Amino acid sequence: MLSVRGLTKKYGDTEVVCGVDLAVRRGECFGLLGPNGAGKTTTLRLLLGLVEPDAGSIDLAGLPVPARAREARMKIGVVPQMDNLDPDFTVRENLLAYGRYFGLDRAAITARVPALLEFAGLAHKADAQIAQLSGGMKRRLTLARALVHDPEILFLDEPTTGLDPQARHLIWQGLRRLIGAGKTIVLTTHFMDEAERLADRLVILDHGRVITEGAPRALIEAHIEPAVVEVYGEGLEAWTRDHAGVVCARSETVGETLFCYTADADRVIDALKLAPALRYIHRPSNLEDVFLKLTGRDLRD
Ligand code: ADP
Repeated sequence: MLSVRGLTKKYGDTEVVCGVDLAVRRGECFGLLGPNGAGKTTTLRLLLGLVEPDAGSIDLAGLPVPARAREARMKIGVVPQMDNLDPDFTVRENLLAYGRYFGLDRAAITARVPALLEFAGLAHKADAQIAQLSGGMKRRLTLARALVHDPEILFLDEPTTGLDPQARHLIWQGLRRLIGAGKTIVLTTHFMDEAERLADRLVILDHGRVITEGAPRALIEAHIEPAVVEVYGEGLEAWTRDHAGVVCARSETVGETLFCYTADADRVIDALKLAPALRYIHRPSNLEDVFLKLTGRDLRD
């Protein structure tokens, strides 16, 4: 559904996307991850034909972009980072107006509206003004609106940023329904749990380059020991000095916490009994551990 070779984009003298290759199969949920400034949004804008690349090729749903971007955009749905619903229209009118933008006739859109409202969980809000919706409802409506012309691919830019946990779960549920129905999804996110839940495959971008690529579980297995014990509290320095090198396969101090990566968490926990003032959290390693190992822990902005 999407094939990208050698994609490159410069702003001034700075290359912000540097020779990116991507391939997304039909029916796949593909994640584009990276720290702030990594080039995710620029990549997404290039894929949509909104920005001209300096080099490289993009084939989106069988069409070259940017040359035939307008036609390609008819086959895709976009959920932008910021909700851009029309505040002068009701929920239903927003769907109708957006459908007309794609050249659908009124009868065709009107027939689709009930299913879209049901999908968004907004059937009871069909005639509400946008200002009356919660943040989660606005996101769900933006998602439903992106489906108005039944696109083959859906692009989502940080779909759950700013939402509370309940609202995030509802969006994930909706996205899983779409994945189950065979839609292809390309999503950027900086929530690792979101990527781990939804993405079949993902790339991590940093400084405009793909630094790793794979299924979330495969990336965790390839890059990180299976368990993490996060240790903090009084006496951490002495315990780290005397024990960490012996019982942790790899460890890293970040602020006042020691991250102890290991295949044998029991051994770490036994050694922690020697320092009862220390507190710890034992958990399976996750995509965030991979992300931080590969992109570092320094703040990017
Ligand atoms: P991300 O979405 O991963 O946070 P972006 O694609 O927004 O990253 O930005 C990548 C880099 O490109 C950043 O250094 C950003 O400042 C720069 N950049 C993005 N858009 C522009 C622009 N229109 N003009 C100049 N620099 C830009």
